[in-house]
Amino acid sequence: MVKDTKFYDLLGVGPSASDTELKKAYRKAALKYHPDKNPSPEAAEKFKDVSRAYEVLSDDQKRDVYDQYGEEGLSGAGGPGGMGGMGADDIFSQFFGGGFGGMGGASRGPARGKDIKHSIGCTLEELYKGRTAKLALNKTILCKSCEGRGGKEGKVKQCSSCHGQGIKLVTRQMGPMIQRFQTTCEVCQGTGDICDAKDRCNVCKGKKTQSERKILQVHIDPGMKDGQRVVFSGEGDQEPGVTPGDVIFVVDEKPHEKFNRKGNDLYYEAEVDLLTALAGGDFGFQHVSGEFVKLSILPGEVIAPGATKVVENQGMPIYRHGGRGHLFIKFSVKFPANHFASEEKLKELETILPPRTKIVVPKGVEVDECDLVDVDPYRHQTAARRDAYDTDEEEGAAGSGVQCQSQ
Ligand SMILES: [Zn+2]
Ligand SMILES: [Zn+2]
Repeated sequence: MVKDTKFYDLLGVGPSASDTELKKAYRKAALKYHPDKNPSPEAAEKFKDVSRAYEVLSDDQKRDVYDQYGEEGLSGAGGPGGMGGMGADDIFSQFFGGGFGGMGGASRGPARGKDIKHSIGCTLEELYKGRTAKLALNKTILCKSCEGRGGKEGKVKQCSSCHGQGIKLVTRQMGPMIQRFQTTCEVCQGTGDICDAKDRCNVCKGKKTQSERKILQVHIDPGMKDGQRVVFSGEGDQEPGVTPGDVIFVVDEKPHEKFNRKGNDLYYEAEVDLLTALAGGDFGFQHVSGEFVKLSILPGEVIAPGATKVVENQGMPIYRHGGRGHLFIKFSVKFPANHFASEEKLKELETILPPRTKIVVPKGVEVDECDLVDVDPYRHQTAARRDAYDTDEEEGAAGSGVQCQSQ
């Protein structure tokens, strides 16, 4: 009987779950909640929780402690922020061997380097037409002089003390507490190998790597969306014995002044004058394609303020498809200014427009004749704005606001 089943519940398995079952459950949960797949904050929390659960349950010693004493028993042994605790991302990379690029691979394959992410800002116009961006990248590569050995061929030996890891894990158990330390190997000083000074590579000074500037051409294809990735497989930093990670460019769509994008559709707010709205006419605007879209409202059709219409197949290109989304147009109507026509002329409108709506006064209710005037920001402050004003004054008692007033 285990003390607490929380970690098992998080992974959706029973307390008798085998290692294989745990692995399967973690794999499923991690892929579902990984921030790269699911950007919501709830998912990020869940990702941390399932990773923590897996970290504990996949370690026989920790699992024993957890089963016997519950989560409290583990404090000090990898609790959140505790000694030896691994981050959710570390557990994930350890399990999958890197980012998603290593997905599906065996968990015990060669170590995989970190993926390097860059965001690449794109305007809607660029995402419409596509573009090629050249980006310079400083990366670490294996030393070209010693081919990443760090010294003369055959003269660099793996450190036997740490098996070439450069680090050692020290596990200490104190009662129910397990503490795990990582220390630098003192025999090789963390380099992982032993080499005579005279045999050391003098280009990289035994570091095995050097840095290189590389230009990558990123092709942004028409119709790409915010968050979409362009992956340069294996272009990440090189390290001896490690499969390089990927360089990933993530499309960051910049907001547009006039257009909004939802999927492959575009949204545009068009203002038409009252005459066009009532009696038809032409209007138009520049599209993100660079072309000018000319549209006609036919006489007889009335455009009410707030009405939405659609222009089919005038939206964004559909990525690697060829078609286009739609263009939705939401209308506002520009009314003429005061006294745009004489009173006599206005009477003519009565012969054209539908009659005025008659007012209905409920029976037995007194009529109060009132006046409409223009809003004056000083005379017509609302209560809420007055309150805000008062608060500002109090908060800014020693500030510039008050000084200005006293001058
Ligand atoms: Zn060593
Ligand atoms: Zn070298």
